[in-house]
Parts: sequence; C-alpha cells; structure tokens
Amino acid sequence: MIVNGETRLCGLIGNPVSHTLSPFIHNTLSKRMTINTVYVPFQVEKNELSQAVAGAHALNVLGMNVTVPYKTDVIPYLDAIDPMAKGIGAVNTLVRTQNGYKGYNTDMTGLCRAMQTEGIRLNGEEIIILGAGGAARSVAYMCLYYKVSKIYLLNRTIEKAQNIADELNKEFQREAIIPMHLAEFDKIPTKKYLVIQGTSIGLHPDSEACVIEDPSFYQLAHTGYDLIYRPFKTRFMKLVEEAGGVSFNGLGMLLFQAIDAYELWNHLEISDEVAMETYELLKAETKKA
Ligand code: NDP
Repeated sequence: MIVNGETRLCGLIGNPVSHTLSPFIHNTLSKRMTINTVYVPFQVEKNELSQAVAGAHALNVLGMNVTVPYKTDVIPYLDAIDPMAKGIGAVNTLVRTQNGYKGYNTDMTGLCRAMQTEGIRLNGEEIIILGAGGAARSVAYMCLYYKVSKIYLLNRTIEKAQNIADELNKEFQREAIIPMHLAEFDKIPTKKYLVIQGTSIGLHPDSEACVIEDPSFYQLAHTGYDLIYRPFKTRFMKLVEEAGGVSFNGLGMLLFQAIDAYELWNHLEISDEVAMETYELLKAETKKA
C-alpha cells in the first residue's frame, strides 16, 4: 500500500475500537481492487462525537463506519439518512456528501446479502429470533422490510420483546411479530423455521454457553443463523446441527456490511469472487485473534 497525495481516508468511530476487524477487511479490499484508500480506527469520546463527524468532513474523509456505542447517537449529526437506517434507528456507515454525511445501515443490508449468498430466503417465511437487544431489533426490522410473514421474538426480558413488537407491528401495519419469553418456545407451532440467534450469549470467551440449552427447541430449526462469529462455531450452531439443521455464524454479516459500505464509498461493485477471497482471509484473521 503506497500512501501518496491522492490517498483518501476512511475510518471507524466507536469506543472501544481496538478489537475491530474492519481495517483488515477494508484495507484488504483496497489492496485487491487497487483503490487508493486507507482505513483506520478512531476512538472517539462521547462528548466529542459531533466534532468527530464535523472534523472528518472538514478533513475530506471519504466515509466512516460507526460502531458501539454511537450507532444511534450519531444520527443527529448527519446531513441525511437512508430510509431503512431511519426505520431501524441505527447507522453504521456514513457516506460523504457535499454538506455532510448520509447515514446507512449496512449491518442489515450486509446480513441480508450474506443470507442471500448462503441461499437463505426471507420473503414469505416464518422465522424465530432469539434476543431483543439492539442487534435483534435491527434484524426484526430488516426481516419485516424483506417481507417475512411472521416472527416469533423470544427474549429473557419479555417487556423488551413486547416493546419491539408494539413498535414494529405498528410501523409495518401488520401483527407480524409475536413476542414471547425464552421459556415459552414450546408454544411455537411445530414445523421448521429459520432461527436467528441475536443475543450476546455464547460470545468468546463464554463459548460453551447458549441462550436455549433444551435440545427439543432445535427440532424447530431447519437453519440456525448466529450473529456471533467468535467462536467460529458457537454452541448454538452445534445444537442446530445435532438436531439435523444447517448453521451459519455472523462472519458473513461482518464481511458484507463492510463490502456494502465499501461499494457506497467507492461507487463500484465487489464481485462474488473478491468477496469469497476476502472471506477466506478474514476467517484466517479471526482465528488468529
Ligand atoms: P445487546 O446488549 O443490545 O442485547 C443483548 C441480548 O442478549 C438481549 O436480548 C439480552 O436479553 C440477551 N442476553 C444477555 N445476557 C443474557 C442471559 N444471561 N440470558 C438470556 N439472554 C441474555 O447486544 P446487541 O444486540 O448489540 O448484540 C447481540 C449480539 O449480536 C452480540 O453478541 C454481537 O456480537 C452480535 N452482533 C454481531 C454483528 C456481526 O457483524 N456479526 C453485528 C452486531 C451484533 P435481555 O434483554 O433480557 O437483557
């Protein structure tokens, strides 16, 4: 990588940012595509978020990713927001415009693209989502946006699942989300579903934990999709496979949220071949960390 007078800067704002894999993905893509951009992490303090966004624009920064804890807090500092990101209420990608940045949610377009690549359908499907935190809410929104017919939304704290159901059922004008406590899974009609694991249970180093241990739950899964990618095979994924289903981790989502952002910033399309090459490099990098 040669940095010269024409190099453009992209970056990530969040706190903390030291464990991020985004610089690896973006700099790998730039090298592969011979695009003259450099991507770096920026740790930003909460009281300096507005200055960080304004400063990035003043410095002609091409694009930014936004991570925890600023995905919602950053919205007031944007010049424009994509409708899906607005509905989700969270932004992870800023695209430079003349007067500021436009916010997008490529976490969700990326998850959708990862699922498409893996042959998973959403349109017309009934699905189960575990969790009602920030990620699970975004996934529920994205799934309704792409026309799943019904979502059983299971959470430890039922009130949080109920709040998401109230809000999104109203927004999409249909009673699509059914909120439930985790322990109520036996009330879900017996058939096979796509199950998306959106809680933080099972994340490294707590790798042997799973939000539902009962093997009978996994009889409901034709496919299990864990948003977690560390460990590479989570306990949730193992339980899905033991019950005869297929499973995926969240690494594809991580890759495609980056690719979607990269495409928005650079006005190009990353081919399936380059995406897969990058996936293999990212997988190796994840195992190192
Ligand atoms: P939040 O903290 O907002 O939500 C955490 C969720 O986990 C809640 O539903 C919470 O339930 C549940 N939970 C936590 N502890 C327990 C427990 N002991 N028993 C039962 N449920 C529990 O986190 P996020 O929504 O932001 O993230 C969730 C996961 O998604 C993370 O592991 C993150 O790594 C992953 N993720 C992956 C991405 C990717 O690119 N692959 C992108 C974004 C997130 P309750 O409401 O009852 O507290």
